[in-house]
Amino acid sequence: MAVASTPTSPQTDNFDVIVIGSGIGGLVTATQLAAKGAKVLVLESYTIPGGSSGSFERNGYCFDQGASMIFGFGDKGTTNLLTRALDAVKVHLETAPDPVQIHYHLPDGLDLEVHRNYEKFLQELGSRFPHEREGIRQFYDECWKVFNCLNAMPLLSLEEPRYLMQVFFQHPLACLGLVKYLPLNAGDIARKYIKDPALLKFIDIECYCWSVVPAEMTPMINAGMVFSDRHYGGINYPKGGVGQIAKKLAEGLVNAGSTIRYQSRVDKIITEKGRAVGVKLTTGAEYRAKRIVSNATRWDTFDKLLGDRQLPQKEETWRSRYRKSPSFISLHLGVEAGVLPPDSACHHIVLDQWQKMEEPEGTIFVSIPTLLDPSLAPDGYHIIHTFTPSWIKDWEGMSSEEYEEKKEEAAGRIIDRLEEIFPGLDAGLDYMEVGTPRSHRRFLNRVDGTYGPIPRRKLLGLLGMPFNRTSIPGLYCVGDSTFPGQGLNAVAFSGFACAHRIGVDLGL
Ligand SMILES: Cc1cc2nc3c(=O)[nH]c(=O)nc-3n(C[C@H](O)[C@H](O)[C@H](O)COP(=O)(O)OP(=O)(O)OC[C@H]3O[C@@H](n4cnc5c(N)ncnc54)[C@H](O)[C@@H]3O)c2cc1C
Repeated sequence: MAVASTPTSPQTDNFDVIVIGSGIGGLVTATQLAAKGAKVLVLESYTIPGGSSGSFERNGYCFDQGASMIFGFGDKGTTNLLTRALDAVKVHLETAPDPVQIHYHLPDGLDLEVHRNYEKFLQELGSRFPHEREGIRQFYDECWKVFNCLNAMPLLSLEEPRYLMQVFFQHPLACLGLVKYLPLNAGDIARKYIKDPALLKFIDIECYCWSVVPAEMTPMINAGMVFSDRHYGGINYPKGGVGQIAKKLAEGLVNAGSTIRYQSRVDKIITEKGRAVGVKLTTGAEYRAKRIVSNATRWDTFDKLLGDRQLPQKEETWRSRYRKSPSFISLHLGVEAGVLPPDSACHHIVLDQWQKMEEPEGTIFVSIPTLLDPSLAPDGYHIIHTFTPSWIKDWEGMSSEEYEEKKEEAAGRIIDRLEEIFPGLDAGLDYMEVGTPRSHRRFLNRVDGTYGPIPRRKLLGLLGMPFNRTSIPGLYCVGDSTFPGQGLNAVAFSGFACAHRIGVDLGL
């Protein structure tokens, strides 16, 4: 792997592109460009790559920092963007197929599993809402229409007119299909077919668990991807932990002749005559390149990395439409294997009251990756990574004793609720590390520890999400605050698009 230290003297290396941050968005941009022959420098402030999709080790356990339900590892179509990103730099990862995407534990005893097999899932949901069997099929079948359009075309930059023309002539029906769905939200389509309020609530949590907003605010394009790909390419867990994806991409990047430096925190983006031309690290070291890409959030990019300059109108408009979602309280637990009931699913969602779905500590997310890769924990133990939404403002302005006490109390509340599905959890605990929105802000380098942007109000689907180019010439953004939003496969899409646009701009 490339050098970890940071030179302090002025740099004379000529880079084509500098990427600030090694999240999956940044790494896919970097590897795609390196594969086209560009000389790329990735600067990551942390000691390892991956950002919200990194992994860390404690006491014999390998924990995922954030993401653990992974789309994009399919072996067919065009939406398998993680498989494609790794292939582009000739690296490979073994994955384990997950037979169940989520086991839901919902209010009013609604307990069901989303099976990898589409018909089995429709069967199970239909048995809970027999009077809505037809509406259920119509709604999810319409999601397939979106997915089939996406999965028929190469997913590259929508800011590149020649590509758009080419794709349109090669796949006219798919393109027209997508144009139709672009301004729509999943709730619009769900209400066309489904009337039962309890079932509409279920569609809400189906969206909320990855978009963190209910169906009426969740773009149909994203819903079409998630609700279909889970049955097509499926959910697949990378052997060795989610952090392996970023590690492999970093390895491929270096093999392709580019560079990644860790513990290299960018303090400022250098501009000359209004154009982004380089970056300055907190150490004072400076690097220059023909193009600069920020994988930090748009808030971090424009408020911190660009200094005091006036916010461009385009960013102001974006901020008037989108706000920061909450962060999370996360528990990384090592537990005795006996705690898990036989045949437990890897991912669970727990919610006691529908009206609390969007509230802090309302919905609890659970992931048990050792069910798919036992090597992540010592023999006889499992990992439980559980998290629930929480705002940064509730964790500030307290002494370190108060902070520790508040963490303990929050952990206690989560564990008490999880005892309902994993009786004996508290007694079977071997290890616990508690993260708060402050930890997310610090270790993931994300303003307020936010999960990402969410609409302030009902918007026209995905039409308001910005692409990769910014109002600053030479500066591009990539990652979850660009089209099409949060999630590993989504930020990989953003990375493919960003590299494509830069490749065209640089004539690669
Ligand atoms: C708890 C949690 C659970 C999640 N679960 C899932 C899931 O199951 N499935 C899924 O698909 N997605 C999930 N997600 C979302 C997914 O992880 C993110 O959408 C995605 O990883 C974001 O990738 P990114 O490329 O935008 O940037 P990030 O992952 O945010 O990475 C940005 C990188 O840039 C670096 N950086 C920032 N500023 C600087 C600077 N100034 N100088 C140098 N480096 C800098 C950061 O250190 C970081 O490494 C989850 C997220 C969280 C937090």
